[in-house]
Amino acid sequence: MRPSCVLLLALASVAWADVTTTVEVETTHDVTTPTEPPTTPEGLREGRRVPPQPKVNHDSSPRDKPKRRTTTEPPTTTGGWEVPECPEELCQPPDCRCASQLPPLHPAPQLVMLSFDDAVNTGNFPFYQKLLNEDRRNRKSQCLIGSTFFVTHEYTDYRMVHQLYTLGAELAVHSITHSTETDLWRLANQTVWTRELSGMRDFLARMAKVPREKIRGVRAPFLQTAGDTSFSVLHKEGFLYDASMPSRMYVDPPLWPYTLDHSYQHDCQIPPCPRGHYPGLWVVPLVNWFDVRRQTPCAMVDACMPYPETVEDTFSYLRHNFDRHYLSNRAPLPVFLHESWLKHPNRTLGYLKFVDWMLEKDDVFLVTVQDALDYIRHPVPLDRYREASCLLEPREEECGLEGQSCGYLRAHPRLIGPRFMGTCIRCPRRYPWVDWPLDEVPATSPKRHGLSST
Ligand SMILES: [Zn+2]
Repeated sequence: MRPSCVLLLALASVAWADVTTTVEVETTHDVTTPTEPPTTPEGLREGRRVPPQPKVNHDSSPRDKPKRRTTTEPPTTTGGWEVPECPEELCQPPDCRCASQLPPLHPAPQLVMLSFDDAVNTGNFPFYQKLLNEDRRNRKSQCLIGSTFFVTHEYTDYRMVHQLYTLGAELAVHSITHSTETDLWRLANQTVWTRELSGMRDFLARMAKVPREKIRGVRAPFLQTAGDTSFSVLHKEGFLYDASMPSRMYVDPPLWPYTLDHSYQHDCQIPPCPRGHYPGLWVVPLVNWFDVRRQTPCAMVDACMPYPETVEDTFSYLRHNFDRHYLSNRAPLPVFLHESWLKHPNRTLGYLKFVDWMLEKDDVFLVTVQDALDYIRHPVPLDRYREASCLLEPREEECGLEGQSCGYLRAHPRLIGPRFMGTCIRCPRRYPWVDWPLDEVPATSPKRHGLSST
């Protein structure tokens, strides 16, 4: 163990005496925005029991040695298969990292990744503006706080996406259709995944005018990947990371992001999980959260039940999970949720109180997922840390005067009813969809207004 790790572990003080792993019903789920039909993944609908997992040692002293995979340790089982060995001597940053619960350097900054899923529209945009306003800055750097949006196409207003980008947000991909059939995602072939993921990246790049090279992250709808089928698409299409894979085993201390150079190395909560090798492709694990009272694990912040109802309960729930990272190995904290969870006014207040409470700390930084990976790829001592994508001022607004509201009475044979969307470009002739690539109207064409009959 590195000397620094002794110091690190001495900092850990989270007590988990009451925590057990006896809850076996899969609680991972994806809360939709109010503009979408209510959805629940297959596992929840069927009350599926998760595969038996080795007991998470919540009773262990925080001074226990963190689990670390090296060639000198035997493989660990993770829900049914042997974890391949990761030869650390051959896997070093910036482009490779073995799964580990050790920080790259000590002391590490506590990076916090705020993320939001699904469509961006008038239903949630006012909150995002409130959250990302210029007065909220990381204390030490005075950089704007970062956040990451995993966007779906339907009901998204790309002009608002562009505004999020100008506020310093990272835009990432969450599919075009966001189909509620999780079997579809699990069984989809590479062609489908390519259309859904690269197609959505194309929509964001062209209709929201977000630089294509900055769109590098993916979250599978309902966290349902197709294992090697979808991960091979991510790798082939040049994405940098996936943020779909929960971990329930490696939560205390929490797992740091790692690459798939030597295959998938943590517990497989939502099969299938990839077994192939994908050099340079990062996994940003959804380290499970726990509700304060019952310690029930969940993959995303808004999936832990019961929901907090008061400002103080919301704050203490968020802080409780923050402490598990901050007081142990400082793995980046995934505050991944859907804005619909914040529709409750007390939860909004509790969430913002939590954000502002974190911003009072010199060693905490609210950053994009890409920023967090950038730190792991190029670690520096805490006192030298600066966010990679720090914007001292908002990015310039470039949505353009051509941005339009577009309506389509018969949007697509497989869609019922009209669809509307805002774009930074002239309205495409037909509603863009997974099998209808974006059909951009040249700038010289007459402008189109109002409902189109396509
Ligand atoms: Zn979603």
